[in-house]
Amino acid sequence: MNKQLVWAAIGVFAFSASFGQQPADFPMKPEMTEIWDPEVPVVTPGETPMDAPSDAIILFDGKNLNAEWTNADGKEPGWKVADGCVTVVRGAGIIQTKRSFNDFQLHIEWRTPAEVVGESQGRGNSGIFLQSLYEVQVLDNYKNRTYRNGQAGSLYKQHAPLVNACKGPGVWQVYDIIYTAPRFNANGTYFTPPYVTVIQNGVLVQNHVALRGPTEYIGIPEYFVKPHGAMPIQLQDHGNPVSYRNIWIREL
Ligand code: MG
Repeated sequence: MNKQLVWAAIGVFAFSASFGQQPADFPMKPEMTEIWDPEVPVVTPGETPMDAPSDAIILFDGKNLNAEWTNADGKEPGWKVADGCVTVVRGAGIIQTKRSFNDFQLHIEWRTPAEVVGESQGRGNSGIFLQSLYEVQVLDNYKNRTYRNGQAGSLYKQHAPLVNACKGPGVWQVYDIIYTAPRFNANGTYFTPPYVTVIQNGVLVQNHVALRGPTEYIGIPEYFVKPHGAMPIQLQDHGNPVSYRNIWIREL
């Protein structure tokens, strides 16, 4: 074997090792997939949330959560509905839509607590899991640094937002999310990956980015995901009292 061929073989081995299962003798830590620099530039968004168009499914109208949502364990959702919004109750668990979705346009408004508690990932953390697998991060990143690929507007640990379009704590913010579900090969790999566009407060923060696998807190997202069809949308209980309102969806 000539030298180039040997190096090519080593390269292929290293590639498959790093992109396949993670070796047991090389334990991954959460910090190993945090990217901090350069800091995401800050922009100041305008105002005005958006009402649902005529063909949207209203997922939450500010009053009735039980119509469209359930706890992830199948029980009634334990989050608090009051004052036209629903708020995470620590320990109540993830809630998810009763319906399942493939491709969609989702409008969702969220608010992190007015009283600032904690820092970095501990401040106003929640999240929107597209198809229950792919997290669009919800976090108070108004003058709150964290790793760039884990801040508000990120596809958690996969894509940092283009800019930081966050409003302050206690202020309502908007995500408009356009999602294209993955299509699968027979062997379980993506034929086409999930694609996500996110507009935060009227500002483009994710421009049709491709995901390499389901969201992972520790380690590299697994490319060989179990094939899935339509799945619910989930909202994360990360222990912080984050609120949501005016949630509507258009199936594409
Ligand atoms: Mg989160």
